Amino acid sequence: MFESLSDRLTGALKDLRGKGRLTDSDIDATAREIRLALLDADVSLPVVRTFIANVKERAKGSEVSAALNPAQQIVKIVNEELVGILGGETRRIQLAKTPPTVIMLAGLQGAGKTTLAGKLSKWLAGQGHTPMLVACDLQRPGAVQQLQIVGERAGVPVFAPHPGTSVGGEGTLGVSSGDPVAVAQAGVAEAKTRQHDVVIIDTAGRLGIDAELMRQASDIRDATSPDEVLFVLDAMIGQDAVSTAQAFAEGVDFTGVVLTKLDGDARGGAALSVREITGRPIMFASTGEKLEDFDVFHPDRMASRILGMGDVLSLIEQAEQHFDAEEAERTAAKISQGELTLDDFLQQMLMIRKMGPIGNLLGMLPGAGDMKDALSQVDDRQLDKIQAIIRGMTPAERDNPKIINASRRIRIAKGSGVTVTDVNQLVDRFFAARKMMSQMSGRMMGMGGGNRKN
Ligand code: GDP
Repeated sequence: MFESLSDRLTGALKDLRGKGRLTDSDIDATAREIRLALLDADVSLPVVRTFIANVKERAKGSEVSAALNPAQQIVKIVNEELVGILGGETRRIQLAKTPPTVIMLAGLQGAGKTTLAGKLSKWLAGQGHTPMLVACDLQRPGAVQQLQIVGERAGVPVFAPHPGTSVGGEGTLGVSSGDPVAVAQAGVAEAKTRQHDVVIIDTAGRLGIDAELMRQASDIRDATSPDEVLFVLDAMIGQDAVSTAQAFAEGVDFTGVVLTKLDGDARGGAALSVREITGRPIMFASTGEKLEDFDVFHPDRMASRILGMGDVLSLIEQAEQHFDAEEAERTAAKISQGELTLDDFLQQMLMIRKMGPIGNLLGMLPGAGDMKDALSQVDDRQLDKIQAIIRGMTPAERDNPKIINASRRIRIAKGSGVTVTDVNQLVDRFFAARKMMSQMSGRMMGMGGGNRKN
């Protein structure tokens, strides 16, 4: 995500490190680098101009901080300005006072609306909502069926007209199945009856902007008075992103933007201009084809990620999601008593792996941008190996690794398809880690740092 932009920006800022004092020409040179980096990433020109002017003004101005050196000061300014163009505050979905909350999706064909409908509904369901999807893309062949599949995967019901029949399935509503406005209205009514608290309306897109597309989207909007109209924007379309966003802002208007395909290595910077150009916040980011590849868009986190400062907040949030507090407490107690077993170790590792590929996790840590090569060594294959070795042990061996003698090591290596050296390394490291962790935890308790009962 924004990798080349991130590389360029960190590169530009790195040159300042170690300088005790920055002259105006240092600042100008850095500003020039940043400007080129942003333009190369397709960030739109007016946005770049404002950005650079602000950075220069603030950097040359009187902002002096005792805590930061000049280079850090510039990084801070660039970061704050970046957060600014990305929208500042995180913008949450506005829920209707009286349910259902109606969310309408609009955007070009292929932008990722249908996929997003699934992601958004799954995400909302995960937060205790009871969403329903409404299929109003009656233009693209197979679109209704695609939404039904997506809904099934997300475990969320889909309201769709049956081909050739009237809306409502039985023709009871007497609405033609070819009329997306009628389908949208009937969908919202159905959601009310069935007490779904959120309705997500998927609408038709076209390959390009056209008047008919805008009219249809506006009609659906007028007929359903959505609480949110989300403009879905493919970040990979480059410079066209800005003009498309402008056209939708004028033609349909929207309350928020969803950036999709941020996993692509395209420059994507145009999408970063959307907030500044349209004045509408970016609310969500989609980063892949799977339902889970989706998150709330946090301008501050995105900015620090682009600047290579890592995304520690996202990491913490992901950790919390997968974190089992009781299990952690149990493990902590075992660690302090030097009783950690290989089974515990394996469980910990599996818990971490649930959070995603290890490379992604490490990439979120600050400074990780500088260590890409080193990080690529800590890949999932190594973890797979450790997992295989531990699984190749008997329960008794995992429970009490001290019994793992030479002949057992040979057996384990054979069984898990690794060398005896691999097994030796794992066992040695395990003992060293167990000892260190137990010492550390003892010391922390000695300092009064623990509030555990024992
Ligand atoms: P729609 O025409 O706007 O409804 O777009 P679709 O939801 O059908 O998406 C078009 C294509 O883009 C599909 O092949 C999706 O799997 C793919 N897609 C959607 N979102 C993402 C994303 O965030 N990343 C990637 N790589 N592909 C995506």
